[in-house]
Amino acid sequence: PTHLVWFRNDLRTIDNRALHAACEDPAARVLALFIATPGQWAAHSMAPRQASFIHQTLQHLQAALAAKNIELCYHQCDDFAAANAWLVAFCREQQVGTLFYNRQYELNEQQRDAALEQQLAGQVVCRAFDDSLLLPPGSVTTGNGEMYKVYTPFRNAFLRRLTAADTRSLPAPRPREQGDVPRHPLAPFDYPQQAVDEAQFPAGEEAALARLRAFCREQAPDYLRQRDQPALSGTSQISPYLAIGALSPRQCFNRLQAECPRMLEQRDGGAFGWLNELLWREFYRHLLVAWPMLCKHQPFIRWTRFVPWHTPDEAFEAWKQGRTGYPIVDAAMRQMNQTGWMHNRLRMITASYLVKDLRIDWREGERYFMTQLLDGDYAANNGGWQWAASTGTDATPYFRIFNPTTQGERYDKQGDFIRRWVPELAEVPESAIHQPHRWAREQQRVLDYPAPQVDHATARRETLEAFEDARRHA
Ligand code: FAD
Repeated sequence: PTHLVWFRNDLRTIDNRALHAACEDPAARVLALFIATPGQWAAHSMAPRQASFIHQTLQHLQAALAAKNIELCYHQCDDFAAANAWLVAFCREQQVGTLFYNRQYELNEQQRDAALEQQLAGQVVCRAFDDSLLLPPGSVTTGNGEMYKVYTPFRNAFLRRLTAADTRSLPAPRPREQGDVPRHPLAPFDYPQQAVDEAQFPAGEEAALARLRAFCREQAPDYLRQRDQPALSGTSQISPYLAIGALSPRQCFNRLQAECPRMLEQRDGGAFGWLNELLWREFYRHLLVAWPMLCKHQPFIRWTRFVPWHTPDEAFEAWKQGRTGYPIVDAAMRQMNQTGWMHNRLRMITASYLVKDLRIDWREGERYFMTQLLDGDYAANNGGWQWAASTGTDATPYFRIFNPTTQGERYDKQGDFIRRWVPELAEVPESAIHQPHRWAREQQRVLDYPAPQVDHATARRETLEAFEDARRHA
């Protein structure tokens, strides 16, 4: 029999459930496949640098599969519909008996898979696996069988289920006895190109595992002390790998437990703090499945549809470029524009600034982040933006509004992070780094740095009124 493994967001050989299952029968001929869909990626605003990262990762995957005597076939077409049509023909041509894949939970992806299963009915058996989460969507619910709308009770229920669940990592398959396989160079994607800094984010599952091991051993215990300081590298920076499945959440959980075996009993300390972040990732993916409207650009809290947003104009452009005049916001945006990664605290600050200070629709910011992020992930990005905009589940009430100056003072006290990314402020003393223009006025100096776009106190008041009006009129 011929088994085909369709790789999508699971670009690894170790602990890959679909691949593992496809290789169980030693007599089967196993083929692997990746289909690039640039038109679909553009429609999803995928960052060009994420596409580059996927391309690099595919080369590692191709080599790792070849070492197991499995060929990685590769095809490029426009969108999901075209991919399905091609795949049906490919299955016929290769006499595929069973198709193996790991589920994706976004709506378009789910619809693609449902359509494919229909198209293949009677010809090919489809076997789908829950692989990209510790616990599958729909398995962590309230007493009434409903998905939680708030994170903390979700997490508590999740932890109760986790100890009983099978979270073992599966090994990579053994080399198959089907002879050497051809390795054709992978044609570049027909998609805009943007380089990834390979020193910061080396591609491939081996690099991902090395980073995970080092983080769990050396940094996880200190995570709670360091995680909110953007100037330190206190977080794992594994999000780009998790986003494309070069790493699995089980590998993260198991490695963390191996280093910190008492984590679940003690329920405190850095390791547990880090697990908590992994569970935020789970939460947002579970939400997508329970509320498909989240994949249709809908706010979770319905009345927030009526907030009158400002038209995105030069202020939006300046935010994108990191030229708002608020140093912490600008440093953060430049970090993302240049590297594709931004610290979590800064994602919250920059998102809050766009929505609450500039009062620009959160969906504009959500889309811009996707075009830049190396770790762009629909569920986490949408969840993060709706959180910041107070339109989501688990909403911080809309009247809690970050002050970008005091946030900077709190999380980048000495301004080390700011100076790294905003060199125009190199000369500004530590005590003035968060309000450089005030200092420049006092010193009668001219800064080559924009003045604050908005007065925070005024913007805050107007945003509160806008939200209150929307709620009243809903
Ligand atoms: P660590 O602190 O080391 O955490 C480990 C892992 O847990 C992360 O790699 C990530 O997979 C997961 N995680 C951590 N925090 C969150 C969170 N708040 N929500 C969901 N998962 C989390 N994360 C993405 O992976 N892709 C995105 O597109 C994305 N967009 C975001 C947009 C906004 C506005 C906000 C506020 C957050 C967003 N996040 C996103 C979540 C978070 O900022 C990143 O996951 C985190 O900064 C990645 O860095 P790390 O790997 O060092 O995280």
